[in-house]
Amino acid sequence: MPDSLQIAIVGGGAAGCFAAIACAETLGARGRVTVFESSPKPLAKVRISGGGRCNVTNARTDPRELVAHYPRGGRELLGPFHRFGPRETIAWYESRGVPLVTQPDLCLFPVSDDSASVIECLLGAARAAGVELRTHCGVKHIVHHGAGFSLTLASGETFAADRVLLATGGGKGLELAAALGHRIEPPVPSLFTFRVADARCAQLAGIVIEEAVASVPGTRLQGAGPLLFTHEGLSGPAILRLSAWGARELAGRDYRFSVALNLVPPLTTAAVVEKLNALRATHGRKQLHTWSPLELPQRLWEQLVAASGARPGLAWAEAPASVVQSLARLATASEFPVSGKSTNREEFVTCGGVSLREVDFQTMESRRCPGLFFAGEVLDIDGLTGGFNFQAAWTTGWHAGRAMAAAGK
Ligand SMILES: Cc1cc2nc3c(=O)[nH]c(=O)nc-3n(C[C@H](O)[C@H](O)[C@H](O)COP(=O)(O)OP(=O)(O)OC[C@H]3O[C@@H](n4cnc5c(N)ncnc54)[C@H](O)[C@@H]3O)c2cc1C
Repeated sequence: MPDSLQIAIVGGGAAGCFAAIACAETLGARGRVTVFESSPKPLAKVRISGGGRCNVTNARTDPRELVAHYPRGGRELLGPFHRFGPRETIAWYESRGVPLVTQPDLCLFPVSDDSASVIECLLGAARAAGVELRTHCGVKHIVHHGAGFSLTLASGETFAADRVLLATGGGKGLELAAALGHRIEPPVPSLFTFRVADARCAQLAGIVIEEAVASVPGTRLQGAGPLLFTHEGLSGPAILRLSAWGARELAGRDYRFSVALNLVPPLTTAAVVEKLNALRATHGRKQLHTWSPLELPQRLWEQLVAASGARPGLAWAEAPASVVQSLARLATASEFPVSGKSTNREEFVTCGGVSLREVDFQTMESRRCPGLFFAGEVLDIDGLTGGFNFQAAWTTGWHAGRAMAAAGK
């Protein structure tokens, strides 16, 4: 088949496999799709994702709402999401025998509750479409010449391709993109938890605040949602969101900064003072230590009261204004010193990657190197937790795969 189109996909992760299927199904007998995967097994991250359950996507199907969950890449993904977003992803999986279920937090998981069903589906679809999947096959170099590309594998073997998709995730694959003329935004971690060397956190380990706001004083960075105190420090969606929006800035500070917590949002310090003063009149005989009027967990409330300077046994009617003021500040703006980051085991991603200005988001083709395409985390795109990162991989993979097949030889 001398005129057959050779498509090389570098990386057998979520984006690479999804692109390979979209490409091979569009291409049919006009060409051949080969996936090169350096590790022994494809889709390794899918297997461990979402604690082994795989949070496939999110029920926020409106592209405008969806893009607000991407600290980097949201603007560029708006158009691609209109053409292939969560709705199309759900239909894609369900039509191939993987029904999904929506949790109350709008995250979608396979009904099987097992990431293996997503992997089997992708590998089965790839096989059926005629994709060749080569594992233990790392790509070391890619050279672009007038007529196409020459790939050199770790084994020394070379492979000629008309089009190449880079879907290598973060890490070394970025060197391949840089060698082909692309600007790389420096990779730094996103979606991490905060290490806090402060006895207050350890004392509160295990306590969850259902709705809190974490912010970095002096910046506009903040994250809202459930907050978890741990032996190591602070965790939970509020912290993960703050870490994602602040990934670059917090790396620049070497993960040493102050985090302020509002434990009773949307109340401000002044609003809490007003609320507590009103209680002095209506519940004056109750003791500060034993009754939390802010609906905070008792262990946390006791810590705030102790820190406010209130003497044991103090009744609300006798509470001095300074104690009320102090309690209100502690509930709305307690500061903790962050001294480092820890890995969130459920999900983490890399912020940074191939600069988005150099990619055409209609096709995912490079603006610098014709015939070169990108999909997934290799791009400077990352989302919050909740299925947004896989959605970016499915969307960019689908567009890249179709575009690679559509262009004639
Ligand atoms: C523990 C964990 C849990 C997660 N859970 C979720 C979740 O539930 N929902 C969600 O939306 N996101 C989740 N994520 C994020 C999600 O896994 C990634 O965003 C997604 O996997 C990115 O897909 P990708 O194909 O771009 O990259 P990857 O999945 O990283 O795949 C890239 C592939 O390329 C291969 N490769 C790299 N270099 C080369 C080379 N030179 N030659 C050949 N092959 C190469 C790698 O071996 C790898 O297999 C999780 C991440 C982690 C770490």
